[in-house]
Amino acid sequence: MYLYNSATHKKAEFVTHTPGHVEMYTCGPTVYHFAHIGNLRSYIMEDVLEKYLRYAGYSVNRVMNITDVGHLSSDADTGEDKMLKGAKRENKSVLEIAKYYTDAFFDDCAKLNIKTPDVVEPATNCIDEYINIVQTLEQKGYAYFAGGNVYFDTSKLDRYYIFNDHDEDDLAIGVREGVEEDPNKRNKNDFVLWFTQSKFEDQALKWDSPWGVGYPGWHIECSGISMKHNGEYLDIHCGGVDNAFPHHTNEIAQTESFLGHAWCPQWFHVAHLNTNDGKMSKSKGEFLTVSLLEQKGYDPLAYRFFCLQSHYRKALVFSWENLENAQGAYNKLLRRIAALNDADGQVDEAVAKEFKDKFIQQLGNDLNTSMGVTALYDVLKAKTNDVTKRAILASFDQVLSLNLLEKAAAIREKEAAQAKSQTACGYTVTGEGDPAIDALVMARYEAKKAKNFAEADRIRDELKAQGIEIIDAKDGATWKRV
Ligand SMILES: [Zn+2]
Repeated sequence: MYLYNSATHKKAEFVTHTPGHVEMYTCGPTVYHFAHIGNLRSYIMEDVLEKYLRYAGYSVNRVMNITDVGHLSSDADTGEDKMLKGAKRENKSVLEIAKYYTDAFFDDCAKLNIKTPDVVEPATNCIDEYINIVQTLEQKGYAYFAGGNVYFDTSKLDRYYIFNDHDEDDLAIGVREGVEEDPNKRNKNDFVLWFTQSKFEDQALKWDSPWGVGYPGWHIECSGISMKHNGEYLDIHCGGVDNAFPHHTNEIAQTESFLGHAWCPQWFHVAHLNTNDGKMSKSKGEFLTVSLLEQKGYDPLAYRFFCLQSHYRKALVFSWENLENAQGAYNKLLRRIAALNDADGQVDEAVAKEFKDKFIQQLGNDLNTSMGVTALYDVLKAKTNDVTKRAILASFDQVLSLNLLEKAAAIREKEAAQAKSQTACGYTVTGEGDPAIDALVMARYEAKKAKNFAEADRIRDELKAQGIEIIDAKDGATWKRV
């Protein structure tokens, strides 16, 4: 596989520490609110990456954290504690908030066919690991204690910036207005490893530590959890592009200083989802969640399909119109698959292998998912039997996870039920594909045939009340919603 690496700014062959095996880490959600669909874009693309690696023959150990402590509203350790903010907003405890939004996150993932990683670790589970790392960093001279907090000393590194080539002066311009400087920091980019002096008197979660009662900084979580479950050598680290600085930069600084050797050679960053308002999370004031997509009648998998149609390193523009187009294309694709004959012979293994090899090669070019989607149409057009086509589509769907055959089967069942009610006693009912309505229209016909006109009128009125209009014809009737 060839992947772009944000650490080297180059596309190169993906090489793992242990041949054939991938240790993979994903920055998980901060569970203080619902995930918006921009966040979920990253998880969809990381899910495809994981499934692709397995499909291409790797074994994978994928680890993800759940941030339930220590993440301030600015990633640079300033602002409010996000969990505390969520708890106050909803008048609940921090633990209740964490549980509620962790469950909500995994519900959204399930709807989007995002597989749960092999290991999911809440940050509050690994306090001993963080303390151990911070102590070691202190002993090695990479950390200092000031004003009640422990900081990482970025001046001790030969190279701090990994993903960007900017220097400290450039960065100073980027410091946002209204964010006060922390006077305890020796260098601008130093970051907190362990807080004991909290601005938040009511900080809910605190633990004993060699520096006093306190809680870990956000960045140390991912280093601690990854080293605990992935070991000392990580093959690929994933996240949204907004995580690259300072979060991932700080993860590298503290982990490599702790280990004394290189840690993770490959960094996979997913670009933003933007709306026409220029924001990632909202459109015309509406907070964009999976539930909102469903309320508006969209299939969450149509959103997955929409994401797969573009490359993970390109910013993607979300609008309801774009989603509508994706839903339409997805439905059309499913109907074409539903029309495939499932009993017209044997799978042609040679053809199937040829397609699979090509699919591995195409997606293996920096996870080109739009080529993966195009491959589905190539299969439908291929000169082979339908059984082979269905087998190849099922195989590709192990990676794309669009429920292609399941949804196509549901379309066929619906059509079969419709056809059945249509053909009864030479009287044909055509409508908008609702067997219950078809049956009522048929019952009205039978009542009329038995000269039970009162019953026939009653059924007509019942249908009318449901907004159904019946148009009688010579050998049947059609109905429509008005
Ligand atoms: Zn992280």
